[in-house]
Amino acid sequence: DSLKDIIERPTRVISYPKRADGKPLYTSEFYGENVFHLQQIAKALPKPAFASFLKQMRGRQALDRGTADAIAHAVRIWAMDRGATHFTHWFQPQTGATAEKHDAFLTLKSTFTSAGEEVTAIDAFSGSQLLQAEPDASSFPSGGMRTTFEARGYTVWDTTSPMFIQSGPHGTSVLYIPSVFISYNGDALDEKTVLLRSTEQISKACCELLSLIESVPVGAQPRTSHVFTTLGTEQEYFLIDRSLYALRPDIKTTGRTLIGNLPPKHQQLDDHYFGRVPSKVMATMSEAELELFRLGVPVKTRHNEVAPQQFELAPIFEEASLAVDHNLLTMDVLSKVAHKNKMKVLYHEKPFKGINGSGKHCNWSMSTDHGENLLDPTVKPETNYRFLLVLVSVLHAVQQHGALLRTSIASASNEHRLGACEAPPSILSIFLGQHLTEVLNSIEEGRPIKNFSMPEIQTIKLGGTVLDVKVASLPSIARDLTDRNRTSPFAFTGNKFEFRAVGSKQSPSFPVTILNAAVASALQDVTAALREQMGERPFPSDADKLAVIKKFIASTKNIRFEGDGYSDAWVEEAEKRGLPNIRTCPEAFEQLLNPTHSSMLTKLGIFSPSELTSRYFIMNERYAKDQLVEAETMRTLLAQQILPAAFEYRGSLAQTVQLLSAIDGEAQSPELEALRALTPAVRAVQASIVGVDEAIAKLHAIHDDAVAEAKAASDYIVPAMQAARAAADHLETLTADKYYPIPRYSELLWF
Ligand code: ADP
Ligand code: MG
Repeated sequence: DSLKDIIERPTRVISYPKRADGKPLYTSEFYGENVFHLQQIAKALPKPAFASFLKQMRGRQALDRGTADAIAHAVRIWAMDRGATHFTHWFQPQTGATAEKHDAFLTLKSTFTSAGEEVTAIDAFSGSQLLQAEPDASSFPSGGMRTTFEARGYTVWDTTSPMFIQSGPHGTSVLYIPSVFISYNGDALDEKTVLLRSTEQISKACCELLSLIESVPVGAQPRTSHVFTTLGTEQEYFLIDRSLYALRPDIKTTGRTLIGNLPPKHQQLDDHYFGRVPSKVMATMSEAELELFRLGVPVKTRHNEVAPQQFELAPIFEEASLAVDHNLLTMDVLSKVAHKNKMKVLYHEKPFKGINGSGKHCNWSMSTDHGENLLDPTVKPETNYRFLLVLVSVLHAVQQHGALLRTSIASASNEHRLGACEAPPSILSIFLGQHLTEVLNSIEEGRPIKNFSMPEIQTIKLGGTVLDVKVASLPSIARDLTDRNRTSPFAFTGNKFEFRAVGSKQSPSFPVTILNAAVASALQDVTAALREQMGERPFPSDADKLAVIKKFIASTKNIRFEGDGYSDAWVEEAEKRGLPNIRTCPEAFEQLLNPTHSSMLTKLGIFSPSELTSRYFIMNERYAKDQLVEAETMRTLLAQQILPAAFEYRGSLAQTVQLLSAIDGEAQSPELEALRALTPAVRAVQASIVGVDEAIAKLHAIHDDAVAEAKAASDYIVPAMQAARAAADHLETLTADKYYPIPRYSELLWF
């Protein structure tokens, strides 16, 4: 029935925005129409108030009441004119998702007359409601930082991210106020506060280095007064049909298939990759894009990914914290739109075993307030000391804190992906590409660079000679300075780094926070080394810069790796180089409390010691819970669906065997053989359920110790689940399709 429904269901048609004459609007004409822009705030405020608001945005100082009231009034009118009935602070607790709690603009006003009290309804939204809210948010994870009896958590407007409206029920809408979430004592309870702190630290550290290398005299205005990190998140995801999804309890509760065998054809032929997008999927993608354009989210690229039913969506990069907001918004909008199109988005890092999983490649760089990309190698990187100093800072950051970057991407779901099927391994190394490697090697060895900067090597001459056949109709194209290495978890790609090990499901916030922190700290080290090199001189000479660059090239050599990150040889080699290979989540979480990393984070003021401890507990707790949910889902699925189906099939075979032997006394019917093969497979599944139950019991025996629970989950649940899956997958191959109770991979993976 599901299949019939899928085939017959028409593709949803939506109407694109049109002009009066019926022609479609250009994207630029409605882009950002659901966003309350800075210009609108400017219009609402007197000039000096707007100037102080801008200052506040930069420094995040307190906003005065009058200004807040004026903005609140303007945004309410703007939002209500667009159908808004409610507003909400929109924040990012440590659940990986966003949170919201709606309040109506409605208030009541009482007037007392001789006739008694008269109550009138008015629409209102005050500056203090805009600035701050106190959701009763006691149920969010806080890792012991708030106990339920002092559950005060505050959401505070993050003025760096614009407010926007999203559609609500019956054609109404809701005003969203991007916010941070902090405790009564000002501790970060969310992902955003720490991200904003890390951005400030990287700006400070970077500006200091820049003013040194740009020889800014003491007391003079530096050329660069602000640096920000840029982020572009390539989001991979799977789309499956909702009616099949509804029949898979494992996908519904855990986001992935806990059992299932690959069909004969899946991704071997690479024919899905960059193929034509199926029309139902295109309908979903473009409807989501339409909504995202209106929300000012610059989604740019869409395409099929490698695995069947796997797709990707990438935006134009933006300032990191805005890019994070926009990534979360994108995930949300895509889910909602898919639902309307009778589909389900799977953001899980490994929804299907044996084919590619999904990542969220975080393209990251740093930009000055003049818009210069500090990781742009320019034409002659070998003499671009600013670029080289920033580059070695990133190398130094990853070398010092690679293990912590590993922590930032550790989750029960990403654990299935790292190191499997085209996913980066769990060893953090950096790929620089042939050209930059040569630049660094030549500096280190003090020899001239091999001729890389020559113009002819930077263009691929398609119009030139290709196997003696002229393809003159094609233009020459510029070649990137780097080639691709898909196996690297952290790769330089032209003018940015790409952190590829980040999971598709997680918020990019924490990994980017850790990356920013590590680079801020590394920039400080590089600056200190430069000062030492300069000695008494006020500014570094080129020779000083080169000496420091050389020093860091030498000291960070062990994390540079250009080879195949998937190979076993690399695992061995990495061990020889002393690079950590952190395989399990509990090991990764430990890094948060490792003094090498924790002191860096606390010194920079990005985390307080108690915030770190709290996050450590939250991560452990989350991991244990995720594993437990999976284990319980598995045992239910096997005991209540898979085994009963196998019993039924066995029953039918047994009946046939009996009938046949009654007819002609044949002892060895084919049905009997099938039955005999089936029996041990059924027993194995039954035994594996016991195994899962035992693992669950081990976890339940632990009380109030998240760390021990996570460890137990990793030690007992993970292997028990693997065993159960192996048994169930074998049984699937022996069970007649007619009896198999849930949609198989072969149905899920094709539209
Ligand atoms: P590639 O295909 O090499 O990964 P793309 O040009 O497709 O590169 O970019 C991938 C992502 O990287 C996009 O989201 C893009 O906006 C982002 N990106 C490009 N330049 C930067 C930068 N300087 N900082 C951060 N992200 C960037
Ligand atoms: Mg890319």
